[in-house]
Amino acid sequence: MGFRFNDIEESEKTMMNFEEKVKKGGRVYVETYGCQMNFSDTEILLSILLDNGFYETGEISDADVIFLNTCSVRKHAEDKIYSRLNSLKKLKKSKPHLIIGLLGCMAERVKRELFNKFEFLDLITGPDEYRKLPELIRSVRRGEKGIAIKLSKTETYDDITPYRKVGVNAWISIMRGCDKFCSFCIVPFTRGRERSRSYNSIIKEAHCLYNEGVKEIILLGQNVNSYRYNDFDFADLLIAVANATGNTRIRFTTSHPYDLSEKLLKAIASKENICKYLHLPVQSGSDKILKLMNRHYTIEDYKAVINKARELIPEIGISTDLISGFPGETDEDHKLTLKLIEEVQFDSAFTFIYSPREGTKAFKLKDDVPLELKKKRLSEIINLQRKISLNIHKKLIGKKKQILIESYSKRSKDFLMGRTDCNKTVIIPKGNYNIGDFVNVKIKKVNSATLFGTVI
Ligand code: SF4
Repeated sequence: MGFRFNDIEESEKTMMNFEEKVKKGGRVYVETYGCQMNFSDTEILLSILLDNGFYETGEISDADVIFLNTCSVRKHAEDKIYSRLNSLKKLKKSKPHLIIGLLGCMAERVKRELFNKFEFLDLITGPDEYRKLPELIRSVRRGEKGIAIKLSKTETYDDITPYRKVGVNAWISIMRGCDKFCSFCIVPFTRGRERSRSYNSIIKEAHCLYNEGVKEIILLGQNVNSYRYNDFDFADLLIAVANATGNTRIRFTTSHPYDLSEKLLKAIASKENICKYLHLPVQSGSDKILKLMNRHYTIEDYKAVINKARELIPEIGISTDLISGFPGETDEDHKLTLKLIEEVQFDSAFTFIYSPREGTKAFKLKDDVPLELKKKRLSEIINLQRKISLNIHKKLIGKKKQILIESYSKRSKDFLMGRTDCNKTVIIPKGNYNIGDFVNVKIKKVNSATLFGTVI
């Protein structure tokens, strides 16, 4: 069960209206795949549906409407959805009134063809058309198929209050789409051109979350560094959000190295509640590959940004994304990636095997690195990064860190999981502490992924 911040006192009314709502709209179950932007979109589309007489259910067996909010970023992500759709076919047979819809990036990429592949599919909706969902559901009930896949140059859902789960953290989508057109990336085609939400509405939303006790806010966008609204840029927005939210931690993702300004680094340094953490995808250590990827920077540029970040914010944690086996990547290019990892000493890295996506520029290049070689290179990258992360973590043994407790440890309810502001995961004994507490801990032991500590 979730809440919207204008809705808190409505539970009684909600119960009274429940049966009516179910009659009018129905129970909606949404499964979300992919990145945080998709999870944020699910909160938006649920808000739209709730305002139109629908009701959310967490039980798929109760649902009158099932939506899969999908990701297209890798072939593997789409394959997962295809197999999920096949498994829903049986459910649809046993419950003919059930509406099944496919939303998000995959709906936008594959479009109408999905109806040919899955004749039981009722509805396809792209990320910019969620306002139409109530009407599309009504048209399905009239016996039609529902499709809305137009990309918008203006839609930001600025006026929609997301339907959020009560929790320690909340994300705020500050912009949509991307204009960077990295040659491997499908996002500009599935999420459209870049547009920023209005400055004041973001600050208002952040302030409301702070009043509701949210402990960490994550500002989201495909490339938050290029946020612009009238005269305000992302550094202005970050400071304003930090000012409006007391000691709430503020994070943001994702950053593109090309747009990361010194002004932004100074903004991060200037406010205590802005987390000292930067996720800065580099993708490759080779200038030749970066050019083919259309990344708009060289390795020298990238290192200059990292150096500046460390000069202005010495304690900053830095992570990155790396792709192995991009078309044309030679052993020499791969070695340059390993060299860069050594030089930069990232705290952590998200690593991927190159996955060709139809419609992108890179799709036209010959996918000439054999899968086995891609895998071998990937494991060399992972092994090197693990060694570096472990060394960085070892230096933290005996140090004091503040963490925000986010959840129970996955392994045991006797332990809690928290994060430092540099985004390091710390496990502590449960003791008398609770999710949402800020506590100071001493680091006792480490591995390459996790720190273990005790509260001091
Ligand atoms: S910056 Fe590049 S990788 Fe990121 S969403 Fe935009 S096109 Fe894709």
